[in-house]
Amino acid sequence: MKFDKYIDERKGIFVTKPSLPPLDEYVEYLKKVWDTNILTNFGPLHEEFRERLTKFLDVPLCLPSCNGHMALELTIQAFGLKGEVITTPYTFASTTHAIVRNGCTPVFCDVNENDCTIDANKIEALITDKTVAILPVHVYGIPCNVEEIERIAKKHGLVVIYDAAHAFGVSVGGKSIAKFGDASMFSFHATKAFNTIEGGCVALKDMNLALKLFQLANFGIMGEEVVTGIGANAKMNEFQAAMGLCNLDHFAENVEMRKKVYELYEKMLTSINGVRMLKPYRDDVVMNYAYCPVFFDEKILGKTRDVVYDYLTSKNIYPRKYFFPLTSEFECYRNGNYKGNTEVAKKISRQVLTLPIYPELDLKDVKTICGLIKEFLV
Ligand SMILES: *Cc1c(COP(=O)(O)O)cnc(C)c1O
Repeated sequence: MKFDKYIDERKGIFVTKPSLPPLDEYVEYLKKVWDTNILTNFGPLHEEFRERLTKFLDVPLCLPSCNGHMALELTIQAFGLKGEVITTPYTFASTTHAIVRNGCTPVFCDVNENDCTIDANKIEALITDKTVAILPVHVYGIPCNVEEIERIAKKHGLVVIYDAAHAFGVSVGGKSIAKFGDASMFSFHATKAFNTIEGGCVALKDMNLALKLFQLANFGIMGEEVVTGIGANAKMNEFQAAMGLCNLDHFAENVEMRKKVYELYEKMLTSINGVRMLKPYRDDVVMNYAYCPVFFDEKILGKTRDVVYDYLTSKNIYPRKYFFPLTSEFECYRNGNYKGNTEVAKKISRQVLTLPIYPELDLKDVKTICGLIKEFLV
């Protein structure tokens, strides 16, 4: 068995490149770790990072975790949810897995064609007496229709947990994205716009829930001889927190650089008939440009997304088909007979390519990539 298949040894331009802070900045924090000899278990850097995150996200409570997935899985557990959870299949495996691993049943709602987030107009038709929560995804960091989701959840007494894995630093109408819903999970994986190597956090409002989550993240341990919950281990260690503290200092400038890349793609590609990019549901969304999804309409172009992908990879440009296949099409869910008609999600998952985007990506390379795409398509 080979375990090294995730290390890509091809040479070329990849869809992303992890952001590292200047090494000396990280070393300064490492000195603190060597001074205290505290490596994990909610140490001083964890606490410093937690405070800065709470301020940055502008939320009452925030808990860092070892990764985004565990944060999401344990949040569902902390709410004690049992039943149907309305979500979307146009996402990373983690979203659906977190629901199913909690013994809940995913009910797949379709997405909007313009922004790939949950189609709020289709949620109510999926609500039954078994529905306990809505778990929408701010996919690519593009906000869901948070107002409409809140209205529906209130009306039907449902919990709202956002998979905000992509949405760090995003705001809607001047309000931090983390303020919506009962809880939001952010991922700080190396490939995300903001990273702590691996890592994540949950932003919350309710103190009791935060305490429950805090316990579940540490095996449900309450005291040396008291274990009250069937928890897991989801603690963020001091080395991750140090990386977070360093990267947070550079996040704003990184987003600025990503924005330049994104806007150049937009300018050069959307003039092609049959090629489109995202449009958020409101004009006052501040994006983080975590991804650069581009949609290729085969009916207009006479060429499929897959041949564009093959062409680019033959030129050592490595885009990704995020998100294809839909999670509902995965081998492990295909035969689950999960409810929900997701025609739009299916259609866009066959049109999308996420193109390379990261702060240091040279604008000359972006022009080259766009040139190749244009030359191939027209
Ligand atoms: C990355 C990601 C996660 C999981 O985050 P990890 O930090 O990698 O565990 C969850 N949901 C979505 C949509 C993601 O892209």
